[in-house]
Amino acid sequence: MTSVNHGEIMSGDGIEKSHILLVEDEIAHAELISRAFESKVDMVTLTVAHSLHDARARLGAFKPDLVIVDLLLPDGNGIEFLTHEERDLSYPVIIMTSHGDEQVAVEAIKAGALDYVVKSDVSLLEMPHIAERALREWRLSIKRQQAEARLRESEERFRQVISSISDHIYMTEITTDGVFINRYLSPNSEELTGYSHAQMLGNWDFWLSLIHPDDRANAEAQFLYLKTGQHNEIEYRLIHANGHTLWVRDNARVKDEGESRIIYGVVSDITERKQIEAELKQYREHLEELVVKRTVELKRATEAAQAASRAKSEFLSNMSHELRTPLNGILGYTQILKRDANLTGRQQDALSIIQESGNHLLTLINDILDLSKIEASRMELYLVPVHLLNLLRDIVNGVVMRAQQKGISFRYEPDPDLPTGVLADEKRLRQVLINLLDNAIKFTDTGEVVFQVSVLSSTATPTENGRIHLRFQVSDTGIGITPSQLPRIFRPFEQVGDRRHRAEGTGLGLAISRRLVQMMGGDLHVSSKPGEGSVFWFAANFTPTVLQDLAEFSAARKITGYKGSRRRALVIDDKKHNLLVLGDMLESLGIEAVLAESGEEGLTRAHQVRPDIILLDLVMPGMDGYETVSVIRHSPDLQHIPVIAVSASAFDKDKERSLTAGCNEFLSKPLYEDALVKVLETYLHLEWTYQDIGLVHQTSQPVILEEATAVSFAVPPVNDMSILLDLALRGDMRGIRQQATRLKTQHHAYTSFAETLIQLARQYDEQKVLALIKQNM
Ligand code: ADP
Repeated sequence: MTSVNHGEIMSGDGIEKSHILLVEDEIAHAELISRAFESKVDMVTLTVAHSLHDARARLGAFKPDLVIVDLLLPDGNGIEFLTHEERDLSYPVIIMTSHGDEQVAVEAIKAGALDYVVKSDVSLLEMPHIAERALREWRLSIKRQQAEARLRESEERFRQVISSISDHIYMTEITTDGVFINRYLSPNSEELTGYSHAQMLGNWDFWLSLIHPDDRANAEAQFLYLKTGQHNEIEYRLIHANGHTLWVRDNARVKDEGESRIIYGVVSDITERKQIEAELKQYREHLEELVVKRTVELKRATEAAQAASRAKSEFLSNMSHELRTPLNGILGYTQILKRDANLTGRQQDALSIIQESGNHLLTLINDILDLSKIEASRMELYLVPVHLLNLLRDIVNGVVMRAQQKGISFRYEPDPDLPTGVLADEKRLRQVLINLLDNAIKFTDTGEVVFQVSVLSSTATPTENGRIHLRFQVSDTGIGITPSQLPRIFRPFEQVGDRRHRAEGTGLGLAISRRLVQMMGGDLHVSSKPGEGSVFWFAANFTPTVLQDLAEFSAARKITGYKGSRRRALVIDDKKHNLLVLGDMLESLGIEAVLAESGEEGLTRAHQVRPDIILLDLVMPGMDGYETVSVIRHSPDLQHIPVIAVSASAFDKDKERSLTAGCNEFLSKPLYEDALVKVLETYLHLEWTYQDIGLVHQTSQPVILEEATAVSFAVPPVNDMSILLDLALRGDMRGIRQQATRLKTQHHAYTSFAETLIQLARQYDEQKVLALIKQNM
């Protein structure tokens, strides 16, 4: 056995050193072949075995690239080698035969030999070429097999991918003649349509016939469009073999391949999406319907609500008018009657009660009206120059008595830096402060009530727009409010706490106050502890202002008359008692009053008497106030006469309407003397004559009012006080009451003082009566 290294054989696509096993028992042949391979020593390693047994042993040690085996061997033949059950098929085998063995050679090829060589001197020497060719062929065939295997594998993968996609994929050729031919249809097309592959493949018209008749024309047009080479996406319905209709989306891309054009398309089942779309559309339409329906309902409801609100406003306006008219009579006459010095003490007391009750009723009407105005967003603030110091003092004067009557201290602490004048809605600011102070006194049985007004941004450093920040605070040591009650107290008609206190109020005050404070640009705050007391406060910006005529704000004086000739006023009102009240008020101021009970009569009287001023009721049967004033304004004789509307209406619209109709001013009923005085003064250019009864306390220093001590209101002269002191020392409470009543009728500035005395005397609280008199002497 010889082993010769022979070198490499160049294979088709690269250098590989090949290992060849030669099985040849004839030494001469083996050597000849070995010699022939010598020139290829770099490419081929040749191993020689001399028998089948020897060859098998060698194959156990290495794996050849090629085996050349002689047909006839001492221990068997080449065919046996080929057909041996352990034969490894990974290398090719060439059989060498002798002359005349061609028949066997054919057999060998059948048995799996790659080639055969008929032994001759020439062929043995040619063996390296034969081996090289065989190897190349073998390797090529291996590569082909591998490529085929890979192709099979990838085809299988593609098939699997395609069948796992629910979409149907197709490939259609558009021939140069413009004919459509289905070239490929993915397997799921059968499921999609219910027809077999064979029916559909190659048959474009069959596919078209599956399209829903209603969609076919459009689909065909779109397919023709593909001929131009443009991509396309269309949706149409297909009729499944089972008769069901399904929606598909056909997404086609066109690619030119050689002469022809190929459509690669994906057909997706979009039935579900279409159903959802249809449902959505229906839902949307239904929604629109619903919106239209609801809008109509809402409109109806709004109209009904507006009508109800209008009805409510009208009702309130009428009710308020109806209530104010008799109240005008009641309050007007109490004011007039109280001036009568001949009244007995009992009569004075009764009048005071009538007046108080009337005022209480009026507050109630006003509160309800305010609330309805707030609810209808019709409440507005009217800013005018206000003497802040006087306003605050006035408010304090009004409440201090009640504190004293209850035996609690009242402390007023104004900031020394308070501006004298500010722009404010005096009525509303007063309303809020009185509400807070009244409540504090009402809900406090022992201890004190403190009213503080402070400047947060001082006058020296006003806010950007020249406004100053004022803070108003009312604190008390009263019953307090529990945390659970706190959120309720600002709600209308909500009253919390015990019954005794509730009876005195309406539960509207805080609801209105908070809204008013909000309109002023602030908010009403509260902190409270049950049993310890409450603090209510708010802050808002105010514009300081210079007051033109300080005098008018300060003195408390009794009018005795006016300078110059006697003036004449015409009063027009259909209600007799209103006429009488107003007439009496005018007469008590020294003005002649001419009365008329209707618009028509008023006009006649106006022509007859040529009044200096006309006071006109607005709501009257026949010719009403608006019509009357417009006639006056068109009459050359009367048009210059100032006309003042006097109405029980509390609505701004009535005021505006009266001014538009030609009135110069609007006064609301019940009519207060002060307001009347002011209007007469303005329009009749009156210079009043007074009986001075002393100035009210005008300091901005803290006024400390301890229990039944010094108060900031007008007190009677010393001799009157001495009488009171004498009566008090003797414990004559009846005498005190009579004396106090007399003082009250002397001038209304003494009212507060006198009423406190009367109250204390009624309770026979001799000590408090004495203390009050002593402190004020
Ligand atoms: P009214 O005083 O007319 O009842 P308000 O709206 O002014 O109505 O007040 C509502 C409720 O808030 C009162 O009934 C009372 O229960 C509570 N309240 C208000 N101020 C005080 C206070 N200073 N101390 C204790 N409770 C108060």
